[in-house]
Amino acid sequence: METPDQVKLKEITDCFCSLVRIDSPSGSEEAMRIRLCELLEPLAGKGETDEAGNLKFKLPGTRSGPICLFSSHMDTVEPGRGITPRLDSDGQIRSDGSTVLGADDKDGITALIFALRRLQEEKAPHGPLEILFTAGEENSLSGSARLVPGWLKAQFGWVFDGPGMPGTVYRNGVGKIGFTITVTGKAAHAGLAPEKGINAMMLAAEGLRGFPPGRRENATVNYGSISGGQADNIVPEKVVLTGEIRSRCTSRIEELRSELEQVWKGTGSICYGKGYPAYEQTDEHFLRQTQAVFTAAGMPSEIKDFSAGCDANHLAHLGIKVCLLAMGRSDNHTRAESTRPEYMLTMSDIAFRLMTSEWKY
Ligand SMILES: [Zn+2]
Repeated sequence: METPDQVKLKEITDCFCSLVRIDSPSGSEEAMRIRLCELLEPLAGKGETDEAGNLKFKLPGTRSGPICLFSSHMDTVEPGRGITPRLDSDGQIRSDGSTVLGADDKDGITALIFALRRLQEEKAPHGPLEILFTAGEENSLSGSARLVPGWLKAQFGWVFDGPGMPGTVYRNGVGKIGFTITVTGKAAHAGLAPEKGINAMMLAAEGLRGFPPGRRENATVNYGSISGGQADNIVPEKVVLTGEIRSRCTSRIEELRSELEQVWKGTGSICYGKGYPAYEQTDEHFLRQTQAVFTAAGMPSEIKDFSAGCDANHLAHLGIKVCLLAMGRSDNHTRAESTRPEYMLTMSDIAFRLMTSEWKY
């Protein structure tokens, strides 16, 4: 005879595995969106999709209270097509090793689905809820970046997408800007007239020395790619570098951006690409209330700093009091990614408790 928990773990494993079998790399979330509508509409009414492909469900409260948002993302990183999940004898779910598993973030989606099912089964009283599944999270948060102010009405929110063990509550997220620097020198025959050329690689080297990558005060800088030149017998005319600046503090990013411009001025032309603002949850009461839910579930919890970005960055800038919750997965963004059904069961319990908590402000 299986215990109720064993039955639930099996249901969670089946649901999670069926979701990761649906290909949904960033920009190709359509099949996932359709499946989520099928799964969620009996629980949370009709889904609404915005221009960016984000999917939202609204549940009116069975009692009054602030609107609470529960969020996870539909897309996965590559290689993320044809994922074949399996439950190994050590209790971990992994892919067959040729792709990522996609626990990032289908463990979050699974936890939310099971919380909503429980809400319905137990007819548990709850305040008004919004359930959000974003697109393009892995593409520099491109889906949540396009959330139109006012589309979400929530005052409080939790993003089910963090690394680390369940119980970890992240209070902030790093912001970043991406940049592309095009360095232009002068082409010349490398053998016949090298003195007529200006080697763009040497110009780039000067810029790199002037504004080097690595850790800075309250920030990091990286150059992630470099390309240029044509052939060994031509003095290279053009080199293109791409990179990023990250910090928990948006004004620090701006400071470093002007330093970057100062150093590269005259050497290269700079354009800025994908980025997102930093956020910091400063409402201690909200964080303590979130921790109290873990305590009530008999779990230790810890508030930490997060050194990357997630949808919470944009949600916070829409005025939602938000934090990121850890899901327990390991090695996400690699072929070794894994998770355990127990973590999803735990986090569905936490989601359920958050949904049914009375938020007093
Ligand atoms: Zn994620």
